[in-house]
Amino acid sequence: AKDLGKNSYKYYTQDMQAVAVKRITLLNDLRYAIQNDELFIEYQPITSFKDGKAIKAEALLRWQHPEKGRIAPDEFIPLAEESGLIIEISNWVFEEVCKNVKRWQTHYCRELQICINTSPSQYFQQETSITDWLTRLLDENIAARSILLEVTENLLMEADTNVSKKLFQFRQAGVDIALDDFGTGYSSISYLKKLPTDYLKIDKSFVKTMTDVSNDKVLCEAIIVMAKKLGIKVVAEGVETQEQYDILNNMGCDFGQGYFIARPMSKTNFEAFLKAH
Ligand code: C2E
Ligand code: CA
Ligand code: CA
Ligand code: CA
Repeated sequence: AKDLGKNSYKYYTQDMQAVAVKRITLLNDLRYAIQNDELFIEYQPITSFKDGKAIKAEALLRWQHPEKGRIAPDEFIPLAEESGLIIEISNWVFEEVCKNVKRWQTHYCRELQICINTSPSQYFQQETSITDWLTRLLDENIAARSILLEVTENLLMEADTNVSKKLFQFRQAGVDIALDDFGTGYSSISYLKKLPTDYLKIDKSFVKTMTDVSNDKVLCEAIIVMAKKLGIKVVAEGVETQEQYDILNNMGCDFGQGYFIARPMSKTNFEAFLKAH
């Protein structure tokens, strides 16, 4: 028994070591991913329930690793956040979106708005990138309404006045702000008071179980009603079935996003999508 204990301890530490090595290796690879053109963006259309038109899309970051293949953002974004690389990566995402959005508006959809995910650390630094984004929009003659910034609740968990000041600057300039993954945190509702919010994105976990016996349908409806009264528009995430689509539509949800509507797609396919819609 004593031996066994010793062995399992040994395996345990070996496992931990393996995990640590894997993380460090991945982080090192990520440092070169931008230069090596391994990062790209997929665009997922977001449609209006009212008329089915796709006037928005979320930019979703992808990493095609030369040896390991596709690595999920849920795996590498936390690494990027911890290491500070997220600033450079986010700036790259923003540049990419800027390169395309005006052209897409000119050729396919005047009202097109691209939603960009942002990370807390982008707002925490005193002087930083994220406020340069506004200058960039002006320089490039891109209308502020072309961009929507998605923020998550953990942004304000460490709330400092700097964060909301920056968000208010964006909003004042005409950039929309969405509270992402709404309902999953501890105090989503209190952020509605502190943050300038134009949109709420109902987390896909609510939509998923909406058709079960759970309370999630009631919660979805309550969120939509509350948002309406506050003058906030609602996007439902993770719409995977006709049934979910119909229920959300009947509840008066404004926008839908999910596999039932359209999957995230390459830049080329997104252009074809815009052309066809
Ligand atoms: P998120 O912001 O909640 O993005 C929505 C996620 O739901 C995406 O996962 C999308 O592919 C997925 N999704 C869309 N429709 C459906 C559906 O019908 N069913 C299901 N089950 N999932 C659906 P993805 O692309 O793996 O991204 C994961 C997370 O990574 C994102 O969650 C976001 O938090 C983060 N992320 C992605 N791109 C960026 C980025 O450029 N910057 C930052 N900071 N975070 C990003
Ligand atoms: Ca998002
Ligand atoms: Ca989300
Ligand atoms: Ca998320």
